[in-house]
Parts: sequence; structure tokens; C-alpha cells
Amino acid sequence: MYDLERVLQTVKKHNAGEKEFHQAVREVYEDILPYIADKPRYEKAAILERLTEPDRIIRFRVTWMDDNKKIHVNRAWRVQFNNSIGPYKGGLRFHPSVNAGILKFLGFEQTFKNALTSLPIGGAKGGSDFNPKGKSDSEIFRFCHSLMDELQRYIGEDTDIPAGDIGVGKREISYLFGQYKKLTNRFTGTITGKDINFGGSLIRTEATGYGLIYFVQNMLEEFDDDLEEKEVSISGSGNVALYACQKAMDLGAKVVTLSDSDGTIYDKEGIDREKFEFVKELKEVKYGRIKEYADEFSCEYLEGETPWSIPCDIALPCATQNEVDLSSAKTLLKNGLMLLAEGANMPCSADATRLLRDSDVLYAPGKASNAGGVAVSGLEISQNELRMSWSAEEVNDRLQSIMKEIHKKCKEHGEDDDGNIDYMKGANIAGFKKVADAMLAFGP
Ligand code: GLU
Repeated sequence: MYDLERVLQTVKKHNAGEKEFHQAVREVYEDILPYIADKPRYEKAAILERLTEPDRIIRFRVTWMDDNKKIHVNRAWRVQFNNSIGPYKGGLRFHPSVNAGILKFLGFEQTFKNALTSLPIGGAKGGSDFNPKGKSDSEIFRFCHSLMDELQRYIGEDTDIPAGDIGVGKREISYLFGQYKKLTNRFTGTITGKDINFGGSLIRTEATGYGLIYFVQNMLEEFDDDLEEKEVSISGSGNVALYACQKAMDLGAKVVTLSDSDGTIYDKEGIDREKFEFVKELKEVKYGRIKEYADEFSCEYLEGETPWSIPCDIALPCATQNEVDLSSAKTLLKNGLMLLAEGANMPCSADATRLLRDSDVLYAPGKASNAGGVAVSGLEISQNELRMSWSAEEVNDRLQSIMKEIHKKCKEHGEDDDGNIDYMKGANIAGFKKVADAMLAFGP
């Protein structure tokens, strides 16, 4: 029988020093081992060993010129993790913290997340250690083109379909797609998150944030509860955070925080429509810092801090991995937290996750609650293949039913005899089952 510590030792040996990857594997396998204990077919086919080994990792150099004609060299990767249920699919991240280990953890998570959406998409992740902060528009343009000059060899509408992630939004996707189209002389749906004028899907920009709130609605409905008048803390101010904020506001919640890597704004009055328009323009058009919100609306600004010291009913970490550590989780619980749902990928550290799972707050892991983004990417692929464009209502309706279906799967595999739902366990088992069963079907 599989032994968790032995499996993890091998993962550590083959992926030395990549602690986020070890953390992600442990979190999944802790739930999978008891599930497969009486199903020897998985061990016989070495499924756990196969699932932690990406199909391939492509690493390449990106050379680009800054505005002063100085040449820079960055590293970039594409981790094609698993294509058992569909072509590789996952975002590109531009951030100085990016390395093979981070991308392996993200690709591993993406594989299960994509399986949960019920759409035929495999798992991948890519990106570069390029830091977009402070770069001019023309520097971003040159970097994206140079990256695509190499990446184009490995992607394609039936092979691998990248999208955005941290540091890669509409603008970067447009530059990447423009160059891909030029190099291949084909107009295909190889990248998702495209602008609506050239093959993008309505609601894609909003999808991760909206999907997160739809998932929270499903969690609350289990208790005949809703978002009305709930105090909500959100970290981050990228598209996940912004559209989670908008949808939560629309459903009657009071959103009191947003943040970026410089600090947190704490607006006790709550963000309203006018303030939301300001922050949307600030982040999506001007690429400004969140502090400007505090200056404009004279609210509190917590320099260099995260939102987790502020009391709230619902916490939505939408910034980055491990942003909620054990002491933040303790503070949130002490301050009366009732629900935490992850908008980012693995934003809670391993000990914070354990604490939340063992407490009686509702806790949803990112692979379930933030799957709305990649789900609408999947719908973008369908529209591209059909050469059609669905209405916002149609995409939004599909997004809502996908999130409902994910919730149902978490419940199916995560509910105990007392009716408590362990969403992490449910998501891990449901995602694993779909991918692993496809791998079994293909044979060794
Ligand atoms: N980066 C997003 C995620 O973590 C979206 C990926 C995609 O649309 O392919 O799921």
C-alpha cells in the first residue's frame, strides 16, 4: 500500500528545494491515499508517481531591450503537466518569484482544477521571472514578443493553450497573441483571455472573480444564508480581486479591503460603485498603486500590510500563494471569520490550511473556488472552434452552472456523516478521479 511519507520523500528527492510543489502534492495526496486504499488499480498503475512528474518542462531564454537600449536576459518556462483529459491549459505568470518549482506547483494544481470544470482541458502553467513592475508599455511589448518568438514552437489550439495569470492581463495577452498570429500566419484560438474584438469571450476578464462569488453563494446556500450585509475582506487588486469585489457588492455585501504588494486599503464605509469605477480604471488602465484609492477617498491605508488583521465575515485571498500564514489565519478566526474562499492559487500556507480545515469555518480551496477563470477560458476555446461569439448572459449562465457543478462534486466526495463538507477533500478526490481514470484507461 502507498505510504504518504515515502511518496513525498521521492517527490522531494526529484524536486529538491521546491517547497511550494511539495506543499501542493502533500495537500492533494493526504486526501487521495485514504480514497485509493481499497482500489489497488491506481497503485498497480503507479498513478501517484506518474501524476507528480510533469509530461515535460520547456525552459528557454528571453532576451529583450529596454527603453535605454540596454539588453536584458530572463528565463521562461512552460510546464506541460498532464494532457490526459484535453490539451494542456493554464496561465502565464510574469513575476520575479517565478521558477520551475513554482510553475510545477501551479501546473499540478491546474490539472485538478481543470478536471473539476468538467471541460476537456489538461493542466499546464508557464511564465517568466521578468518583473513587469515599473516597465514602460514598449518594454512590455518587446518582452512579450521576444517570449512568444520561442514559446510559439510548443503551443497550439490542440496542443497547449496559454492564458493570463499574475502580471499577464489583457494588454500582455494582446501582444502575445498578435505576435503568435504573425509568426504562424494562422488565426486560431491558441491563447485565451483575448480581447472581444479578436476572438475573446465576454465575461472572461470577470470570470475568476464572479465564479469565486458564485461558489461562495453555493456554500452559503447550504445554510440558507447569502451575501447580504456580509463584511468581506479581499486581498489583491488584479482582475480576480476586482471582479470578486464587484459581484460581492452587487449581491449586497460590504467589501472593505483591497491590496497590492505595497499595502492594503481599509474602507470602513465599504467600496461603492463610484469607488469601484475609480479602482478599476486605476488598475486596468493606469497600472497605478492601490494607495491612490486611499488618497482619493481618504480611507485608512496599511502600508506594507495584508488585510488579514481586519475583522470580516468572509475573507477572499486573491493575491498570491501563501499570503495567509498561520498567524493571519488565527487572527481571522479570533475576529469571527465564517468563511474563507481562495481566489488565488494556494494562498493559505500549509499550517493555515490545516487550522482552517480543523475549525468550523467554511473553507474552499482555490482549485474549486477559483476555477471560473479557466472554465470561461474553456468556453472561449469552444466559441473559437465554432467561430461564434456567445452573449454575456449565455457565458455567465454557463459559468454559474459550472460553479454549481463543482460545488456539487465537492459535496459528493467531501461530505461527512454529520453533513459537514470538507471542500478540499471533495475537490481533491473529484479532480483526481477524472484525471487518474483517464490515465488508467490509456494503459501504462
Ligand atoms: N491563470 C488562471 C488560473 O490559475 C487561468 C488559466 C487559464 O485561463 O488558462 O486558473
